[in-house]
Amino acid sequence: MMNCEEADRFLDAYLDGELEPDKRAELDQHLADCPECKEKLARLRQLREFFTANAPHYPAPPELRGKVLARLEVTRRSNLISLVRRPWLYAAALLIVSLVLAWLKFFPNQEEQVANQAVANFKRAALLERVCDIVSPDPGVVKPWFTGKIDFSPPVVLPGLNFQMRGGRLDVINNRKVAAVTYKRDKDLVTVFVWPDAGKPVPQKDWTISGYMVCAWNTKGLNFVAVSNMSESGLDEVVGHLKEAVASQ
Ligand SMILES: [Zn+2]
Repeated sequence: MMNCEEADRFLDAYLDGELEPDKRAELDQHLADCPECKEKLARLRQLREFFTANAPHYPAPPELRGKVLARLEVTRRSNLISLVRRPWLYAAALLIVSLVLAWLKFFPNQEEQVANQAVANFKRAALLERVCDIVSPDPGVVKPWFTGKIDFSPPVVLPGLNFQMRGGRLDVINNRKVAAVTYKRDKDLVTVFVWPDAGKPVPQKDWTISGYMVCAWNTKGLNFVAVSNMSESGLDEVVGHLKEAVASQ
């Protein structure tokens, strides 16, 4: 005869239909005589159904998906046997991963918010045809214009590459006043937003947001976010030249 302790060990395999027929018969016999084990089985079954039914699915960004899969792989290796025996643990893990993904989706990280705001500013300025408050091809005119209007002195440099300076304006990113400097070459438009990092440097990163290229970097205690209607490689080249010019200033 099977006792309660033994029965308990076989409950998961029982629910998975993995028990050999004679073990299964023994357990059936025990469950018929033992209300406690029967109750335990019912609770186990409910728990599984809950997790299976409540695990939603969201598409994962590839980068995060890779990390999660790598993490699951580690967990899987260390818990292979118990996980095989307890598929509802997979469902529970999936539920947690899904909640994290949903959270990331609705609360994008700070740097992505900055990039989105920069693009919104770029589009708004173009729509209002108010790209610059000070229009001048001369950095020597644009740079002093910022004095007294903003609490730092933005580097105002030319990228070369046949770009002309259009001018500068004030704008707002992350609830702070920033300097915006715009360059133009035929139809190519680049606006560079600059502000002191105050201990929160933006990471070096590129985005494509609703068709606009965005490139962020940090140097000399300043955050830079460039937005352009150019192709990615075009903007990369401009940014390379701007970095050199700022470094040699
Ligand atoms: Zn029992």
